[in-house]
Amino acid sequence: MGSIKTGTDVVVIGAGPGGYVAAQRAAQLGLDVTLVESEELGGTCLNHGCIPSKALISVGDLVHKVNNGSDRGIVVKGSVEVDFAKTQEWKQSKVIKRLTTGVASLMKAAQVEVVKGRARFTDAHSLEVELNDGGTAAYSFKHAIIATGSRAINPPFFPIDGENVVDARGALAFTAVPARFLVVGGGYIGVELGIAYAKLGSKVTIVEATGQLLPGTDPDLINVLMRRLRRLGVTVLLNAKASGGLQNGKVRVEDAEGKVQEIEADKVLVSVGRRPYHEGLQLEKAGVRVDEKGFIPVDEQMRTNVSHIYAIGDVCSPVMLAHKASAQGRVAAEAIAGLKSAADWQTVPAVIFTDPEIAYVGLTEAQAREKGYDPVVSRYNFAAVGRALTMGESDGFVKLVGDRKSGLLLGAQMIGPEVSELIGEVTLALEMGALMEDVALTPHYHPTLSEGILEAALSWVHDIEKAGRK
Ligand code: FAD
Repeated sequence: MGSIKTGTDVVVIGAGPGGYVAAQRAAQLGLDVTLVESEELGGTCLNHGCIPSKALISVGDLVHKVNNGSDRGIVVKGSVEVDFAKTQEWKQSKVIKRLTTGVASLMKAAQVEVVKGRARFTDAHSLEVELNDGGTAAYSFKHAIIATGSRAINPPFFPIDGENVVDARGALAFTAVPARFLVVGGGYIGVELGIAYAKLGSKVTIVEATGQLLPGTDPDLINVLMRRLRRLGVTVLLNAKASGGLQNGKVRVEDAEGKVQEIEADKVLVSVGRRPYHEGLQLEKAGVRVDEKGFIPVDEQMRTNVSHIYAIGDVCSPVMLAHKASAQGRVAAEAIAGLKSAADWQTVPAVIFTDPEIAYVGLTEAQAREKGYDPVVSRYNFAAVGRALTMGESDGFVKLVGDRKSGLLLGAQMIGPEVSELIGEVTLALEMGALMEDVALTPHYHPTLSEGILEAALSWVHDIEKAGRK
């Protein structure tokens, strides 16, 4: 046992986008902070999630654009080949490593003590760390923030073996592009990676148990996505169940009528959801309660049932998003410092990096109606946006939802080129309580994709005026 460090104001367990942001904010507020991480700084997001997936997606996009630019006069003599070992090396050293090194610098600048090892509670005011380079260290703390994230679900009907049947972490680390790639689960991780590998040259099949890809997403958006998937040659099997693992290079898939087919695959990604992760943390020794699904319940200041212990990010919330984890981290740090910060998740945007991209924020028309608004929807197609045509990306649309009576902007759903960037404008407008008219009055640079938002807002205002004149 190493020495006991006493008097630490805040111990943060886990250095993902929740934990490292919480640690930095707490230190900025003058608290003495220790951050414990058993793997690389940056957590799932930087090392095995958001960042590596977007790196592969952008390489896939580039290859696909070059290979499919003949209508714009781009002639490829032979075929464009991908040196995937080089792609992976670039992803690791030029993207991930740079970012994780950046996190280390941020922690140093904020004077956060970083401890590499696995933490476990020994009671409600102390924990023990199994240090990565041997031995243990003990810490006592005034406050703790649990930010241990989530892990992929390993379903008994299709066990992950880590070789040919992998989770997202495994699929992001393939050493070669699989010739035949089957994805079990049509959620955002499965669809994003399915499209990326299809563009890199795999023959891709996505098997989804429900009747729609990206369950829960506005079906209008999915129609556009399905058309694009067909054009990319991705096979989508809906209301279908894969089971029994990869047997002799084949996967058994059963449809809703009980018809069975065997699909050939070299690699299988099992992506059927993620679960909160707190194994070995000995939460019970600190008295921290978990719910029946394993999440740690928290109040609006991210406090658990033990008032000086907080939980943030994937470990406490089924909406698992990096920017939400970071926002929760800031709230927890500020609450510990005695500020009045509290969670307000009305304006957390969601982005899915499919082709075309999908983004949404706030309320859909149906959600707005449920909340008692009188929603009016306006939609503007990218086919009428000049910049989209210049990019050869005219599929998709912007949909804005506004309240007839108050004129308030309530939400947006979009599919199309770079909507991952466009959603920021609507998010800010929502956060500031903007009216549809505010968006319509804001000059938007020409020619840009953001004119899709302007046009949707203008047509919303125009429709309301017209209805008023009748
Ligand atoms: P994590 O990032 O999971 O970090 C938790 C950390 O805690 C880990 O580093 C872990 O090693 C450490 N830890 C756990 N237990 C202990 C312990 N006992 N002691 C010490 N350390 C411990 N989200 C988005 O918003 N946008 C995206 O585009 C996106 N893409 C994704 C793509 C993929 C393939 C995946 C898998 C996820 C993606 N996500 C995305 C989700 C995002 O990665 C998570 O929501 C986010 O990482 C959660 O942050 P967190 O801080 O809660 O936990």
